[in-house]
Amino acid sequence: MSTSKRPDAAFLEEAQALLGTRGLTCDADLVTPWLTDWRGRYTGQALALASPANVQELAALVQLCGRYGVPIVPQGGNSGMSGGATPDASGTALLVSLRRMNAIRAVDPAERTATCEAGVVLQVLHEAAEAKRLRFPLSLGGKGSATVGGLIATNAGGTQVLRHGSMRALVLGLEAVLPDGRIYDALTPLKKDNRGFDLKQLFIGSEGTLGIVTAATLRLVPQVAERTVIWAGMPTIQAARALLLHCDAALGDALEGFEVLPQSSLEAVLDLLPDARAPLAGPHAWHALIEVVADVAGAANLRAAAETMLASAFEAGLVEDATIAANETQAEAFWNLRESVAPAERAKGPAVQHDISVPVAAMPDFLDMAVTTIKAEFPGVHALGFGHLGDGNIHFHVIAPPGSQRSEWEAATGKAISRRVHDLVTQWGGSISAEHGIGQLKVDELERLGDPVALSLLRQVKAALDPRGLLNPGKLVTLAPHGARP
Ligand code: FAD
Repeated sequence: MSTSKRPDAAFLEEAQALLGTRGLTCDADLVTPWLTDWRGRYTGQALALASPANVQELAALVQLCGRYGVPIVPQGGNSGMSGGATPDASGTALLVSLRRMNAIRAVDPAERTATCEAGVVLQVLHEAAEAKRLRFPLSLGGKGSATVGGLIATNAGGTQVLRHGSMRALVLGLEAVLPDGRIYDALTPLKKDNRGFDLKQLFIGSEGTLGIVTAATLRLVPQVAERTVIWAGMPTIQAARALLLHCDAALGDALEGFEVLPQSSLEAVLDLLPDARAPLAGPHAWHALIEVVADVAGAANLRAAAETMLASAFEAGLVEDATIAANETQAEAFWNLRESVAPAERAKGPAVQHDISVPVAAMPDFLDMAVTTIKAEFPGVHALGFGHLGDGNIHFHVIAPPGSQRSEWEAATGKAISRRVHDLVTQWGGSISAEHGIGQLKVDELERLGDPVALSLLRQVKAALDPRGLLNPGKLVTLAPHGARP
């Protein structure tokens, strides 16, 4: 390390020599857009923005950061929900974007796998799989920007987890740069491998705190030959759960998605999208969006199977009303209603959102209890849950009383509400982060409510891989208890 120059300047000079002008920039116009998360909740500062072109460049860069003690914040599409990809305000960290490493190395129809680099955008992966008459069975609202590396780092979920699982279930092999600059190469399509711990799983859901994912081999499934999309209305969330069990028994593996929303959320969406129409004639306390799919072999019988399931659901009194999308356009319109719930709720004013899970069977009663408790303890708020009932994962939103001032309400009442919601979730044996990760958003809450043994294990793993705490500091897990002196 040069002694005649300021350490930052010497570091940047060496990084520039390593990455070239395309690979490193301090230009504020280029760096600033990536310093704030997409929801505008967090803004940080960075020494520079690095965009390595390949795994070797990244490995050398990580070694250089190690020599200078420069912290690293990995970033993909910056579509995360928990501020995990935003650096802190100190300006000492290097923001490392994986977006330039965006090659799809292979799509193998025989093995049904895709091997791609971390910067591949989810939508692009979908298209590459479709070109080979296959599909990658994970989708979410941010698919136009979320990258494979970010999806892996957050163990993302979405609307197809019910049938195909989250990223954990879809990653067969993985390549990552470790905090000391070594390359962990486990890019294998092996379906069975019992050589000890499943090390790749350490990096899935680690939010960039243990290594930087550079590539992955992912599981693909056959393309959907036909789908049937159903919209059903029910009087209670318990009835929605009964319908889910009924669908599961009647349709088995064909059941791909089961999402719920309350009437108030549907109305919020209809307010937001003036051209949208409610699928059913009358109001219902709860609505379910059900997707049933078939590959080529089962396509002929799909609609008949869905109709039979629905007829028996009516007979059993499980639904008040229901309709099957008449065509693809209507199916898309149904999904658009569901995907617009979050923006529609956000448009209603200041709110706090919670991405929570409890055991699937307990979710209906939990939801009723949580809505009643929060409304009683925080008068004037509107509390609601919507989302992935089939996974026991609900997005629980609490909207401020009309006229509330955003920043004031969110900092005081909103924070108290979130603590209360997380207390309730923990009492019910649930998780304060079902699919969005911990990031910087929930690092205090994980510390407050996490099982002490689990927290100490998280810390031990972090210390083993990243003893100097240079990878994504302040996110998910810190070497010393958060808030304590290291
Ligand atoms: P970023 O936001 O850039 O980073 C997220 C985290 O991963 C950070 O901690 C970052 O440091 C780390 N990271 C990024 N790349 C790497 C890498 N290569 N190696 C190591 N660490 C890395 N998520 C769901 O789970 N379910 C949903 O239904 C869902 N719906 C969404 C809807 C919308 C409209 C939007 C905008 C987002 C939604 N998300 C959802 C959240 C988001 O898309 C996921 O969290 C996604 O996985 C983040 O990918 P990214 O590339 O944008 O990562």
